[in-house]
Amino acid sequence: MRSIRWRIALPIVLLILGSLLVLTAYLAPTVRQAQMDGLRTHLLADARLLAGELQRYPDRAALAGQLQGLVLDWGDRLGARVSVVGVEGDVLADSQREAASLGDHLRRPEVRDALSLGSGTSIRESATLGYALLYAAVPYRLGDAIDGVVRVAVPFREIDDEADRLTRAMVVAALLTSAGAALVAVTVAGRLVRPIRQLAQAAERMGQGDLSARAATLRDDEIGRLGRAFNDMAVQLQSRLALYADESARLSAVLEHMADGVVMTNSSGEVRLINPAACRMLGTTRDEATGRTYMQIVRHHEISDLWELSRDTGSEQEEAIDLRGRGLYLRVIVTPLPAEDGLGSMVILQDLTALRRADRMRRDFVGNASHELRTPIASLKALVETLRDGAIDDPPAAQRFLSRMEGEVDSLAQMAQELLELSRIESEQAQLAKEATPVADLVIPPVEHLRPQAERGGVALTVELPEGLPEVNVDSERVRQVVTNLVHNAVKFTGPGGSVVVSAEQVGDQMVISVHDTGIGIPVEDVPRIFERFYKTDRARAGGGTGLGLAIAQHVVKAHGGRIWAESIEGRGSTFRFTLPLAPEA
Ligand code: ADP
Repeated sequence: MRSIRWRIALPIVLLILGSLLVLTAYLAPTVRQAQMDGLRTHLLADARLLAGELQRYPDRAALAGQLQGLVLDWGDRLGARVSVVGVEGDVLADSQREAASLGDHLRRPEVRDALSLGSGTSIRESATLGYALLYAAVPYRLGDAIDGVVRVAVPFREIDDEADRLTRAMVVAALLTSAGAALVAVTVAGRLVRPIRQLAQAAERMGQGDLSARAATLRDDEIGRLGRAFNDMAVQLQSRLALYADESARLSAVLEHMADGVVMTNSSGEVRLINPAACRMLGTTRDEATGRTYMQIVRHHEISDLWELSRDTGSEQEEAIDLRGRGLYLRVIVTPLPAEDGLGSMVILQDLTALRRADRMRRDFVGNASHELRTPIASLKALVETLRDGAIDDPPAAQRFLSRMEGEVDSLAQMAQELLELSRIESEQAQLAKEATPVADLVIPPVEHLRPQAERGGVALTVELPEGLPEVNVDSERVRQVVTNLVHNAVKFTGPGGSVVVSAEQVGDQMVISVHDTGIGIPVEDVPRIFERFYKTDRARAGGGTGLGLAIAQHVVKAHGGRIWAESIEGRGSTFRFTLPLAPEA
């Protein structure tokens, strides 16, 4: 009953029913009146007819014998009460009562009117019969004089019955009409409302998140327009949302993969967003961080101080912070950012650790290089000064100084050469001229090149290559340089009577090349550092060498995707090993 359908139908039905009932209530008395008027006329006409009949008799005496019979006969035929009343008021005959028993009728209004006005009617309770009757009376003449009044009466009840029947019929008609109207109204309203209901359902589905919900839009009326507008809106909404989803997916992909850490907080400092880089730098996880406060996850006071400062001043703050505990060096930028509940913050963490390490290495390198250059240059200067101060006049001494000077110049030249080599390798790592090469081609030439030096030093130099070694995929010139550096070191740091063995074996999908010596060895604490540029052990410091050979070797091996390492026992000897990739089988 609450639906629009009923709200439309019900007033219409009530209106129709109401107006029909009002009409009935208004018409019923009118109809009754009309009926009564008709009946009155009718009864008067009957009475006149009967009066005409009576006037055929010459006098009362002629009539007297017949009258009662006539009245009975007329009453019968008319289905009415017929009475004849004399001018004196005495009832001469009556179709329904003994005339003699009836009293004076002169004062009956219809009789009075008939006698004085020529006709009379009245409705009243019959004193004789005890119920309401409609009376009509007209006078009749016998001879020239009015002899009495003929009166015809019918029970008034009949008129009421008739009127009631009519009223009932009208009420029934009103009810039937209303029922029909109700049916029509409900049907029409239902058809009118159906698209609205469909629209409401579609809107409800959309409200529950189903954006594919659409309204049926068959009609060309206002409701159809509403439906089309709704559908347009839905399409718009769907495409907007798709756009937003796309955008946010892109944004989160950026956040997910960016190297800088990003943390967003709301005004109360709760973490609303944290990306993997930030998790890594702060040593937390997204699950752990989300919902906690910034203070709880950033356990470093300098970062939280910076955040508080930004919050208190409402301005961007930036600082480089050394997280010594985590071995990280970060630039932290805190920017105030509008959040859902006021002013939050965005914290950006840039990891400058690698940059700082590179920077430090560059500085170290320059320092080391100048230090290494200073020694030979200083001794060159001293030698030159000694010569100038007189040694030049002592030919044997001059010769000695000159050959020492030549040695210093050679080592300077070697250092320049090695530095050049190092920077070349570092800058063009990608450009290796790799090709399938037999291991012997990499090992034999450097060993043969260094054999005279080994023999001079009394060191036995041997190569042990098993049969059928696979080829390796390398830039052979570079790898020969590596072998040269390693064998050169081995020979250099091994005393007379010692031995150096170069060997190779296949391990898995790699070739391992080893250079083993029985020399002075390397102190345990130095082993991890000997591949650094310019690094030399204390015992090696006195002798020649730049400390760059192993750094170059490591670069070359790494560029081939391999690994180089050393094992050594001080005083017993060292073994250097490196791996190389096998050549793909032809
Ligand atoms: P250098 O030109 O001084 O040999 P390297 O980079 O080749 O420079 O070697 C670095 C240091 O490693 C050497 O100075 C030496 O102290 C140590 N070292 C290298 N190879 C050996 C070895 N076979 N036996 C002992 N010490 C070695």
